[in-house]
Amino acid sequence: MKDIATSPTTKYILDKYNLNALKKYGQNFLIDANVVNKIVNQTHIDKNTAVIEVGPGIGALTQILGRSAGKVISFEIDERFEPVYKEFLNEDNIEIIFGDFLKQDIKSIVEELKDDYRRVYLVANLPYYITTAIIEKIILDNCQIDEMIIMVQKEVALKMTSDYKNPLLLMIEDIGKIEYLFTVNKSVFLPAPHVDSAIIKIRLDRGSDLKLYKVLNICFKQRRKTILNNLKQDYNNANEILIACGIDIKKRSEELSLSDFKHITDII
Ligand code: SAM
Repeated sequence: MKDIATSPTTKYILDKYNLNALKKYGQNFLIDANVVNKIVNQTHIDKNTAVIEVGPGIGALTQILGRSAGKVISFEIDERFEPVYKEFLNEDNIEIIFGDFLKQDIKSIVEELKDDYRRVYLVANLPYYITTAIIEKIILDNCQIDEMIIMVQKEVALKMTSDYKNPLLLMIEDIGKIEYLFTVNKSVFLPAPHVDSAIIKIRLDRGSDLKLYKVLNICFKQRRKTILNNLKQDYNNANEILIACGIDIKKRSEELSLSDFKHITDII
């Protein structure tokens, strides 16, 4: 079967099934098989790996993942693609589930996959309008995903891999590691978006501490306020908590380290 991720094949499929890219679902289809192969090659996906994919679209990434991975389970919200899957993704190790990824019980699916596969990855060219919600879901639901290899807008990727701090990035720092893998030019999508994209890898070594996340959200509620002013909205003894942790009450949350927040959480 030829690669879906080329400009002529993508145009052929869209034409044949009378499909257009819907903005409301963040649809930009990959049309460069080299980029798709690079994603798969740089991330050690093999037959011992099961992959969960968000948004297969017309299957550019799904098809190539299916060649390398033991199993691929892809979640697609747009049912118009069903006939495309019947024709192009009719492989035993590829399963497509229609529905909103954010509403799926990914934790149970990963648990089952772990019986048969050594690793479970999430790989996706993410719909940009729910990038954060998807990452949050995987981390906060403690889904036991080993790695997320995801395409996001380049600007988002740069921010996520910089020194910038927010509750979600501090949670990732606590349980794993985030890496910028490579930039993807906007010209390899149909339709071409306005901005370039990038592939990032988030390794997840263990489950997340939800108490820490609660404290982080309180501490970052208003970024411009001091840590004391944020914390005292929820804790009357905020002053004492910070003094017990040896933290300067005049600092803002972005000036504190992960270990400071862990210390605050322990004391609370
Ligand atoms: N993977 C394809 C590719 O790389 O060519 C398509 C990627 S496109 C950027 C995003 C895909 O996510 C679209 O197919 C879109 O319909 C799908 N999608 C959008 N929102 C979704 C949701 N909530 N749950 C599942 N899929 C979603």
